[in-house]
Amino acid sequence: MSTTTGRRRQTLTVQMFSEPALPGCATTADLAALQVRLEAGGIELIVGTIVDMAGVIRAKSVPAERVESFHRRGLGASPTFNAFCVDGAGIAFTPAIGVTGDLRLRLEPGSLAAIGDQIAWGPVEFFDQQGRPDPGCARGRLRTVVAEAQIAGVDVLVGSELEFVLTDLTGERLTAGTWLPYGAAPLLACSAFHTDLLRTFTAAGLPVEQVHAEYGTDQFEISLPPAPPLRAADQVVLARVLLGRVAGRHGFGISFSPLPFVGAAGNGAHLHISFVSDGQPLLSGGSGPHGLQPAGASALGGIVTGLPEFIAVLAGSPLSGSRLGPGTWAGAYACWGLENREAAVRLCGATPGDPSGTNIEVKCIDPTANPYLAVATVLGLALRGIELAAALPDEVAVNPSSIPGDPVPRLSHDPAEAAELLANSALAQQILGGRIVESLLAVRRWELAAYAETPLEDMTVALRRVWSA
Ligand code: GLU
Ligand code: MG
Repeated sequence: MSTTTGRRRQTLTVQMFSEPALPGCATTADLAALQVRLEAGGIELIVGTIVDMAGVIRAKSVPAERVESFHRRGLGASPTFNAFCVDGAGIAFTPAIGVTGDLRLRLEPGSLAAIGDQIAWGPVEFFDQQGRPDPGCARGRLRTVVAEAQIAGVDVLVGSELEFVLTDLTGERLTAGTWLPYGAAPLLACSAFHTDLLRTFTAAGLPVEQVHAEYGTDQFEISLPPAPPLRAADQVVLARVLLGRVAGRHGFGISFSPLPFVGAAGNGAHLHISFVSDGQPLLSGGSGPHGLQPAGASALGGIVTGLPEFIAVLAGSPLSGSRLGPGTWAGAYACWGLENREAAVRLCGATPGDPSGTNIEVKCIDPTANPYLAVATVLGLALRGIELAAALPDEVAVNPSSIPGDPVPRLSHDPAEAAELLANSALAQQILGGRIVESLLAVRRWELAAYAETPLEDMTVALRRVWSA
Protein backbone atom coordinates (compact mmCIF):
# COMPACT_ATOMS: atom_id res chain seq x y z
CA MET A 1 0.00 0.00 0.00
CA SER A 2 1.34 3.45 -0.85
CA THR A 3 0.82 6.41 1.32
CA THR A 4 1.00 10.10 0.72
CA THR A 5 1.35 11.36 4.28
CA GLY A 6 4.12 13.77 5.15
CA ARG A 7 6.16 15.73 2.65
CA ARG A 8 7.70 12.64 1.04
CA ARG A 9 5.77 9.89 -0.59
CA GLN A 10 5.97 6.87 1.69
CA THR A 11 5.78 3.37 0.27
CA LEU A 12 6.12 1.24 3.37
CA THR A 13 3.91 -1.78 3.01
CA VAL A 14 2.45 -2.97 6.25
CA GLN A 15 1.97 -6.64 6.99
CA MET A 16 4.82 -7.47 4.63
CA PHE A 17 4.98 -11.04 5.76
CA SER A 18 1.93 -13.25 5.49
CA GLU A 19 2.46 -14.36 9.09
CA PRO A 20 4.10 -12.50 11.97
CA ALA A 21 7.71 -13.67 12.16
CA LEU A 22 8.33 -13.96 15.92
CA PRO A 23 9.39 -15.95 17.91
CA GLY A 24 11.68 -17.34 15.21
CA CYS A 25 13.47 -14.87 13.02
CA ALA A 26 12.45 -13.30 9.75
CA THR A 27 14.73 -14.44 6.94
CA THR A 28 17.69 -12.36 5.91
CA ALA A 29 16.07 -11.82 2.51
CA ASP A 30 12.84 -10.58 4.08
CA LEU A 31 14.72 -8.21 6.36
CA ALA A 32 16.84 -6.92 3.48
CA ALA A 33 13.66 -6.29 1.48
CA LEU A 34 12.15 -4.52 4.47
CA GLN A 35 15.22 -2.31 4.82
CA VAL A 36 14.90 -1.29 1.18
CA ARG A 37 11.24 -0.44 1.65
CA LEU A 38 11.97 1.56 4.78
CA GLU A 39 14.56 3.58 2.90
CA ALA A 40 12.28 4.06 -0.11
CA GLY A 41 9.50 5.20 2.20
CA GLY A 42 11.75 7.72 3.90
CA ILE A 43 11.33 6.00 7.28
CA GLU A 44 13.90 7.29 9.75
CA LEU A 45 12.71 5.97 13.10
CA ILE A 46 11.25 2.64 14.22
CA VAL A 47 9.13 2.84 17.37
CA GLY A 48 8.39 -0.48 19.08
CA THR A 49 5.67 -0.65 21.73
CA ILE A 50 4.61 -2.96 24.52
CA VAL A 51 1.55 -2.59 26.70
CA ASP A 52 2.25 -3.08 30.39
CA MET A 53 0.06 -4.66 33.06
CA ALA A 54 -1.47 -1.27 33.90
CA GLY A 55 -2.56 -0.95 30.26
CA VAL A 56 -0.05 1.82 29.55
CA ILE A 57 1.70 1.81 26.16
CA ARG A 58 5.50 2.02 26.53
CA ALA A 59 8.04 2.36 23.74
CA LYS A 60 11.66 2.02 22.67
CA SER A 61 12.95 3.18 19.32
CA VAL A 62 15.89 2.77 16.94
CA PRO A 63 17.09 4.50 13.76
CA ALA A 64 15.54 2.74 10.76
CA GLU A 65 18.85 1.21 9.68
CA ARG A 66 18.86 -0.83 12.90
CA VAL A 67 15.60 -2.65 12.12
CA GLU A 68 17.33 -6.01 11.68
CA SER A 69 19.07 -5.71 15.03
CA PHE A 70 15.81 -4.63 16.75
CA HIS A 71 14.20 -7.80 15.41
CA ARG A 72 17.01 -10.34 15.81
CA ARG A 73 18.85 -9.25 18.96
CA GLY A 74 16.34 -6.89 20.45
CA LEU A 75 16.92 -4.02 22.85
CA GLY A 76 17.70 -4.44 26.52
CA ALA A 77 14.82 -3.77 28.92
CA SER A 78 14.50 -4.15 32.66
CA PRO A 79 12.07 -6.87 33.82
CA THR A 80 10.35 -4.04 35.71
CA PHE A 81 8.66 -3.01 32.45
CA ASN A 82 5.95 -5.49 33.45
CA ALA A 83 5.65 -4.06 36.95
CA PHE A 84 5.30 -0.38 36.09
CA CYS A 85 2.22 1.21 37.63
CA VAL A 86 -0.23 3.63 36.20
CA ASP A 87 0.94 6.52 38.38
CA GLY A 88 4.20 6.84 36.47
CA ALA A 89 6.28 6.47 39.61
CA GLY A 90 5.44 3.12 41.13
CA ILE A 91 7.12 -0.19 40.39
CA ALA A 92 5.30 -3.19 41.85
CA PHE A 93 8.26 -5.47 42.46
CA THR A 94 7.50 -9.20 42.73
CA PRO A 95 9.68 -12.19 43.61
CA ALA A 96 10.40 -12.55 39.88
CA ILE A 97 10.72 -8.85 39.08
CA GLY A 98 13.44 -6.94 40.89
CA VAL A 99 16.21 -4.50 40.15
CA THR A 100 18.49 -7.12 38.61
CA GLY A 101 18.27 -8.98 35.33
CA ASP A 102 17.58 -7.93 31.79
CA LEU A 103 15.21 -8.89 29.00
CA ARG A 104 15.36 -8.42 25.25
CA LEU A 105 12.63 -6.45 23.50
CA ARG A 106 12.34 -7.85 19.98
CA LEU A 107 10.47 -6.14 17.18
CA GLU A 108 7.75 -7.92 15.21
CA PRO A 109 8.65 -6.79 11.68
CA GLY A 110 5.58 -8.42 10.13
CA SER A 111 3.31 -5.76 11.59
CA LEU A 112 5.23 -2.55 10.86
CA ALA A 113 3.09 0.40 9.87
CA ALA A 114 3.96 3.91 8.71
CA ILE A 115 2.52 6.41 11.20
CA GLY A 116 3.71 9.64 9.54
CA ASP A 117 6.65 11.99 10.21
CA GLN A 118 9.06 9.35 8.81
CA ILE A 119 8.21 6.99 11.67
CA ALA A 120 7.22 3.32 11.49
CA TRP A 121 5.51 1.64 14.42
CA GLY A 122 5.65 -2.04 15.34
CA PRO A 123 4.83 -4.26 18.33
CA VAL A 124 7.62 -5.83 20.38
CA GLU A 125 7.83 -8.91 22.59
CA PHE A 126 9.93 -9.80 25.63
CA PHE A 127 12.53 -12.57 25.39
CA ASP A 128 15.09 -13.68 27.96
CA GLN A 129 18.81 -13.45 27.42
CA GLN A 130 18.89 -17.05 26.20
CA GLY A 131 16.49 -16.05 23.43
CA ARG A 132 13.47 -17.80 24.95
CA PRO A 133 10.04 -16.15 25.13
CA ASP A 134 9.57 -14.47 28.52
CA PRO A 135 6.58 -15.90 30.45
CA GLY A 136 5.67 -12.39 31.62
CA CYS A 137 5.08 -11.11 28.08
CA ALA A 138 1.42 -10.31 27.33
CA ARG A 139 1.78 -10.50 23.55
CA GLY A 140 3.73 -13.75 23.87
CA ARG A 141 0.91 -15.15 26.01
CA LEU A 142 -1.68 -14.30 23.39
CA ARG A 143 0.50 -16.08 20.83
CA THR A 144 0.37 -19.18 23.05
CA VAL A 145 -3.43 -19.04 23.34
CA VAL A 146 -3.73 -18.56 19.57
CA ALA A 147 -1.58 -21.69 19.09
CA GLU A 148 -4.02 -23.58 21.35
CA ALA A 149 -6.89 -22.46 19.11
CA GLN A 150 -4.98 -23.71 16.07
CA ILE A 151 -4.41 -27.10 17.71
CA ALA A 152 -8.14 -27.26 18.53
CA GLY A 153 -8.91 -26.50 14.87
CA VAL A 154 -10.70 -23.23 15.67
CA ASP A 155 -10.23 -20.16 13.47
CA VAL A 156 -10.89 -16.95 15.36
CA LEU A 157 -11.68 -13.38 14.37
CA VAL A 158 -11.73 -10.44 16.77
CA GLY A 159 -13.16 -6.97 16.14
CA SER A 160 -12.57 -4.01 18.47
CA GLU A 161 -14.45 -0.89 19.51
CA LEU A 162 -12.43 2.05 20.76
CA GLU A 163 -14.32 4.68 22.74
CA PHE A 164 -12.49 7.87 23.64
CA VAL A 165 -13.13 11.43 24.77
CA LEU A 166 -11.56 14.45 23.12
CA THR A 167 -10.39 17.17 25.49
CA ASP A 168 -8.51 20.43 25.12
CA LEU A 169 -4.74 20.26 25.32
CA THR A 170 -4.81 20.61 29.10
CA GLY A 171 -7.19 17.68 29.46
CA GLU A 172 -10.27 19.79 30.16
CA ARG A 173 -13.71 19.60 28.59
CA LEU A 174 -14.21 20.90 25.02
CA THR A 175 -17.99 21.25 25.06
CA ALA A 176 -19.67 23.28 27.77
CA GLY A 177 -23.26 22.99 26.55
CA THR A 178 -25.56 20.25 25.35
CA TRP A 179 -24.10 17.17 23.70
CA LEU A 180 -26.15 15.14 21.26
CA PRO A 181 -25.38 11.41 21.58
CA TYR A 182 -24.97 9.85 18.12
CA GLY A 183 -25.64 13.35 16.80
CA ALA A 184 -24.73 14.45 13.32
CA ALA A 185 -23.81 17.87 14.67
CA PRO A 186 -21.00 16.78 17.02
CA LEU A 187 -19.68 14.35 14.41
CA LEU A 188 -19.59 17.01 11.71
CA ALA A 189 -18.24 19.66 14.06
CA CYS A 190 -15.11 17.55 14.26
CA SER A 191 -15.10 16.55 10.58
CA ALA A 192 -11.52 17.69 9.95
CA PHE A 193 -10.39 15.44 12.81
CA HIS A 194 -12.37 12.50 11.43
CA THR A 195 -11.23 12.79 7.83
CA ASP A 196 -7.62 13.16 8.99
CA LEU A 197 -8.20 10.08 11.14
CA LEU A 198 -9.38 8.07 8.13
CA ARG A 199 -6.45 9.24 5.98
CA THR A 200 -3.98 8.44 8.74
CA PHE A 201 -5.44 5.00 9.40
CA THR A 202 -5.47 4.20 5.68
CA ALA A 203 -1.85 5.30 5.35
CA ALA A 204 -0.96 2.92 8.18
CA GLY A 205 -2.86 0.05 6.52
CA LEU A 206 -5.41 0.02 9.31
CA PRO A 207 -9.00 -0.43 8.16
CA VAL A 208 -11.84 1.43 9.86
CA GLU A 209 -15.35 0.06 10.02
CA GLN A 210 -17.23 3.06 11.39
CA VAL A 211 -16.93 6.24 13.45
CA HIS A 212 -19.68 7.95 15.47
CA ALA A 213 -20.34 10.45 18.22
CA GLU A 214 -20.96 8.44 21.41
CA TYR A 215 -23.24 8.98 24.36
CA GLY A 216 -20.91 10.99 26.59
CA THR A 217 -20.00 14.62 26.00
CA ASP A 218 -17.06 14.87 23.57
CA GLN A 219 -17.03 11.07 23.31
CA PHE A 220 -16.49 9.26 19.99
CA GLU A 221 -16.11 5.66 18.95
CA ILE A 222 -14.18 3.99 16.18
CA SER A 223 -14.68 0.32 15.27
CA LEU A 224 -12.02 -1.88 13.74
CA PRO A 225 -13.19 -4.79 11.57
CA PRO A 226 -12.55 -8.43 12.51
CA ALA A 227 -8.96 -9.68 12.26
CA PRO A 228 -7.02 -12.71 13.56
CA PRO A 229 -6.44 -12.34 17.33
CA LEU A 230 -2.81 -11.23 17.42
CA ARG A 231 -3.36 -8.79 14.58
CA ALA A 232 -6.52 -7.48 16.26
CA ALA A 233 -4.69 -6.69 19.52
CA ASP A 234 -1.80 -5.07 17.61
CA GLN A 235 -4.32 -2.96 15.74
CA VAL A 236 -5.87 -1.65 18.96
CA VAL A 237 -2.43 -0.42 20.03
CA LEU A 238 -1.70 1.07 16.62
CA ALA A 239 -5.13 2.74 16.58
CA ARG A 240 -4.47 4.36 19.97
CA VAL A 241 -1.09 5.61 18.77
CA LEU A 242 -2.61 7.06 15.60
CA LEU A 243 -5.59 8.59 17.43
CA GLY A 244 -3.22 10.36 19.81
CA ARG A 245 -1.23 11.78 16.90
CA VAL A 246 -4.30 12.90 14.97
CA ALA A 247 -5.87 14.48 18.05
CA GLY A 248 -2.65 16.39 18.75
CA ARG A 249 -2.59 17.75 15.18
CA HIS A 250 -6.05 19.22 15.68
CA GLY A 251 -5.30 20.77 19.05
CA PHE A 252 -7.08 18.09 21.09
CA GLY A 253 -6.06 15.88 23.94
CA ILE A 254 -7.52 12.37 24.04
CA SER A 255 -8.67 10.25 26.96
CA PHE A 256 -9.15 6.48 27.05
CA SER A 257 -9.88 6.56 30.76
CA PRO A 258 -12.79 4.36 31.87
CA LEU A 259 -14.08 7.41 33.76
CA PRO A 260 -12.75 10.53 32.03
CA PHE A 261 -14.92 12.91 34.07
CA VAL A 262 -16.94 12.30 37.22
CA GLY A 263 -20.57 11.62 36.35
CA ALA A 264 -19.83 11.26 32.63
CA ALA A 265 -20.22 8.20 30.40
CA GLY A 266 -17.26 5.87 30.61
CA ASN A 267 -15.01 4.66 27.84
CA GLY A 268 -15.36 0.97 26.98
CA ALA A 269 -13.10 -1.27 24.88
CA HIS A 270 -15.58 -3.91 23.76
CA LEU A 271 -14.36 -6.93 21.80
CA HIS A 272 -16.33 -8.97 19.26
CA ILE A 273 -15.23 -12.56 18.72
CA SER A 274 -16.36 -15.31 16.35
CA PHE A 275 -15.23 -18.86 15.62
CA VAL A 276 -15.10 -21.19 12.61
CA SER A 277 -14.20 -24.85 12.72
CA ASP A 278 -13.94 -27.08 9.63
CA GLY A 279 -15.39 -24.24 7.59
CA GLN A 280 -18.48 -24.08 9.83
CA PRO A 281 -19.24 -20.97 11.88
CA LEU A 282 -19.78 -22.10 15.48
CA LEU A 283 -22.22 -19.35 16.38
CA SER A 284 -24.83 -19.87 13.67
CA GLY A 285 -26.61 -22.55 11.64
CA GLY A 286 -27.04 -24.89 14.64
CA SER A 287 -30.00 -26.14 16.63
CA GLY A 288 -29.08 -24.42 19.91
CA PRO A 289 -30.48 -21.11 21.18
CA HIS A 290 -30.40 -18.49 18.39
CA GLY A 291 -28.83 -21.03 16.04
CA LEU A 292 -25.71 -21.72 18.11
CA GLN A 293 -23.77 -24.89 17.30
CA PRO A 294 -23.00 -27.08 20.36
CA ALA A 295 -19.36 -25.91 20.36
CA GLY A 296 -20.48 -22.30 19.93
CA ALA A 297 -22.85 -22.59 22.90
CA SER A 298 -19.97 -24.04 24.96
CA ALA A 299 -17.64 -21.22 23.89
CA LEU A 300 -20.28 -18.69 24.96
CA GLY A 301 -20.86 -20.60 28.21
CA GLY A 302 -17.12 -20.65 28.93
CA ILE A 303 -16.87 -16.89 28.46
CA VAL A 304 -19.95 -16.02 30.53
CA THR A 305 -19.09 -18.23 33.50
CA GLY A 306 -15.38 -17.40 33.53
CA LEU A 307 -15.55 -13.62 33.15
CA PRO A 308 -16.13 -12.73 36.85
CA GLU A 309 -12.68 -14.08 37.76
CA PHE A 310 -10.97 -11.89 35.14
CA ILE A 311 -12.34 -8.43 35.91
CA ALA A 312 -8.97 -7.40 37.39
CA VAL A 313 -7.55 -8.08 33.90
CA LEU A 314 -10.40 -6.60 31.86
CA ALA A 315 -11.54 -3.63 33.95
CA GLY A 316 -9.37 -3.53 37.05
CA SER A 317 -7.89 -0.04 37.33
CA PRO A 318 -8.80 2.16 40.31
CA LEU A 319 -11.30 3.99 38.04
CA SER A 320 -12.77 0.93 36.32
CA GLY A 321 -15.39 0.11 38.95
CA SER A 322 -16.93 3.55 38.57
CA ARG A 323 -17.67 2.78 34.92
CA LEU A 324 -18.98 -0.73 35.40
CA GLY A 325 -22.43 0.21 36.62
CA PRO A 326 -26.00 -0.64 35.62
CA GLY A 327 -27.71 1.56 33.06
CA THR A 328 -24.52 2.47 31.20
CA TRP A 329 -24.39 -0.32 28.58
CA ALA A 330 -20.98 -1.20 29.97
CA GLY A 331 -22.01 -4.81 30.55
CA ALA A 332 -22.14 -4.70 34.33
CA TYR A 333 -24.11 -7.93 34.77
CA ALA A 334 -22.55 -11.39 34.69
CA CYS A 335 -24.91 -12.83 32.10
CA TRP A 336 -25.55 -13.08 28.38
CA GLY A 337 -28.44 -12.24 26.09
CA LEU A 338 -29.24 -11.77 22.42
CA GLU A 339 -28.62 -8.09 21.64
CA ASN A 340 -28.76 -7.35 25.39
CA ARG A 341 -26.71 -4.20 25.98
CA GLU A 342 -26.77 -4.48 29.76
CA ALA A 343 -25.30 -8.00 29.73
CA ALA A 344 -21.53 -8.44 30.02
CA VAL A 345 -21.82 -10.71 26.99
CA ARG A 346 -24.08 -9.66 24.16
CA LEU A 347 -24.78 -12.19 21.43
CA CYS A 348 -24.92 -10.23 18.18
CA GLY A 349 -27.03 -12.30 15.82
CA ALA A 350 -26.79 -12.66 12.08
CA THR A 351 -30.07 -11.55 10.55
CA PRO A 352 -31.39 -11.18 7.01
CA GLY A 353 -30.74 -7.44 7.43
CA ASP A 354 -27.13 -8.03 8.50
CA PRO A 355 -26.00 -11.50 7.45
CA SER A 356 -22.33 -10.81 8.15
CA GLY A 357 -22.20 -13.37 10.94
CA THR A 358 -23.05 -13.93 14.54
CA ASN A 359 -20.47 -12.83 17.04
CA ILE A 360 -20.04 -12.54 20.78
CA GLU A 361 -19.52 -9.02 22.11
CA VAL A 362 -17.75 -8.78 25.48
CA LYS A 363 -18.82 -5.39 26.79
CA CYS A 364 -17.33 -5.24 30.27
CA ILE A 365 -13.77 -4.63 29.00
CA ASP A 366 -12.38 -1.10 29.36
CA PRO A 367 -9.29 0.56 27.84
CA THR A 368 -7.18 -0.05 30.96
CA ALA A 369 -7.04 -3.72 29.97
CA ASN A 370 -3.88 -4.79 28.20
CA PRO A 371 -5.35 -5.60 24.73
CA TYR A 372 -3.22 -8.75 24.39
CA LEU A 373 -4.42 -10.07 27.74
CA ALA A 374 -8.02 -9.07 27.02
CA VAL A 375 -8.04 -11.09 23.78
CA ALA A 376 -6.13 -13.95 25.44
CA THR A 377 -8.71 -14.03 28.26
CA VAL A 378 -11.79 -14.08 26.05
CA LEU A 379 -10.30 -16.59 23.61
CA GLY A 380 -8.88 -18.74 26.41
CA LEU A 381 -12.27 -18.89 28.16
CA ALA A 382 -13.99 -19.82 24.90
CA LEU A 383 -11.47 -22.58 24.17
CA ARG A 384 -11.86 -24.04 27.66
CA GLY A 385 -15.62 -23.88 27.24
CA ILE A 386 -15.35 -25.86 24.00
CA GLU A 387 -12.87 -28.35 25.46
CA LEU A 388 -15.07 -29.06 28.51
CA ALA A 389 -18.37 -28.89 26.57
CA ALA A 390 -19.43 -26.21 29.03
CA ALA A 391 -23.14 -25.72 29.60
CA LEU A 392 -24.68 -22.45 28.47
CA PRO A 393 -26.26 -20.53 31.38
CA ASP A 394 -29.84 -19.37 30.96
CA GLU A 395 -30.22 -16.36 28.73
CA VAL A 396 -31.19 -13.04 30.27
CA ALA A 397 -33.44 -11.49 27.67
CA VAL A 398 -34.37 -8.30 29.51
CA ASN A 399 -32.62 -5.53 31.39
CA PRO A 400 -31.26 -7.43 34.43
CA SER A 401 -32.01 -4.51 36.74
CA SER A 402 -35.72 -4.81 35.86
CA ILE A 403 -36.01 -8.32 37.30
CA PRO A 404 -37.52 -8.27 40.80
CA GLY A 405 -35.17 -9.53 43.51
CA ASP A 406 -32.00 -8.81 41.51
CA PRO A 407 -31.29 -12.46 40.65
CA VAL A 408 -28.56 -11.65 38.10
CA PRO A 409 -25.19 -11.04 39.79
CA ARG A 410 -23.11 -8.02 38.90
CA LEU A 411 -19.50 -8.27 37.89
CA SER A 412 -17.24 -6.96 40.60
CA HIS A 413 -17.01 -3.19 40.57
CA ASP A 414 -14.69 -3.14 43.57
CA PRO A 415 -11.11 -3.37 42.25
CA ALA A 416 -9.89 -4.92 45.54
CA GLU A 417 -12.48 -7.68 45.30
CA ALA A 418 -11.70 -8.15 41.59
CA ALA A 419 -8.01 -8.61 42.46
CA GLU A 420 -8.91 -11.29 45.04
CA LEU A 421 -11.07 -13.12 42.50
CA LEU A 422 -8.12 -13.18 40.09
CA ALA A 423 -5.71 -14.26 42.81
CA ASN A 424 -7.90 -17.28 43.57
CA SER A 425 -8.61 -18.21 39.95
CA ALA A 426 -7.24 -21.53 38.71
CA LEU A 427 -8.54 -20.58 35.25
CA ALA A 428 -6.36 -17.47 35.22
CA GLN A 429 -3.29 -19.54 35.99
CA GLN A 430 -4.14 -21.79 33.05
CA ILE A 431 -5.01 -19.09 30.55
CA LEU A 432 -2.58 -16.29 31.45
CA GLY A 433 0.12 -18.22 33.31
CA GLY A 434 1.45 -17.66 36.83
CA ARG A 435 4.01 -14.99 35.95
CA ILE A 436 1.49 -12.69 34.30
CA VAL A 437 -1.10 -13.17 37.05
CA GLU A 438 1.56 -12.38 39.65
CA SER A 439 2.75 -9.16 38.02
CA LEU A 440 -0.74 -8.02 37.11
CA LEU A 441 -1.91 -8.50 40.69
CA ALA A 442 1.14 -6.69 42.04
CA VAL A 443 0.37 -3.72 39.78
CA ARG A 444 -3.34 -3.69 40.63
CA ARG A 445 -2.63 -3.86 44.38
CA TRP A 446 -0.06 -1.06 44.16
CA GLU A 447 -2.56 1.11 42.33
CA LEU A 448 -5.27 0.38 44.89
CA ALA A 449 -2.98 1.39 47.74
CA ALA A 450 -1.68 4.46 45.90
CA TYR A 451 -5.19 5.81 45.24
CA ALA A 452 -6.98 4.54 48.34
CA GLU A 453 -7.32 8.03 49.84
CA THR A 454 -7.63 9.98 46.58
CA PRO A 455 -11.04 11.59 45.91
CA LEU A 456 -12.64 10.33 42.70
CA GLU A 457 -12.47 13.75 41.07
CA ASP A 458 -8.71 14.02 41.64
CA MET A 459 -8.22 10.47 40.37
CA THR A 460 -10.03 11.22 37.11
CA VAL A 461 -7.75 14.24 36.61
CA ALA A 462 -4.55 12.35 37.45
CA LEU A 463 -5.38 9.37 35.23
CA ARG A 464 -7.27 11.08 32.41
CA ARG A 465 -4.49 10.74 29.82
CA VAL A 466 -2.35 7.85 31.05
CA TRP A 467 -3.90 5.28 28.69
CA SER A 468 -3.34 7.52 25.66
CA ALA A 469 -0.32 7.32 23.39
N1 GLU B 1 -19.66 3.68 26.95
C1 GLU B 1 -20.16 2.36 27.27
C2 GLU B 1 -19.07 1.61 28.01
O1 GLU B 1 -18.53 2.14 28.90
C3 GLU B 1 -20.62 1.60 26.04
C4 GLU B 1 -21.73 2.24 25.26
C5 GLU B 1 -22.09 1.42 24.03
O2 GLU B 1 -22.77 0.42 24.14
O3 GLU B 1 -21.56 1.73 22.97
O4 GLU B 1 -18.75 0.50 27.74
MG1 MG C 1 -20.00 2.39 22.04
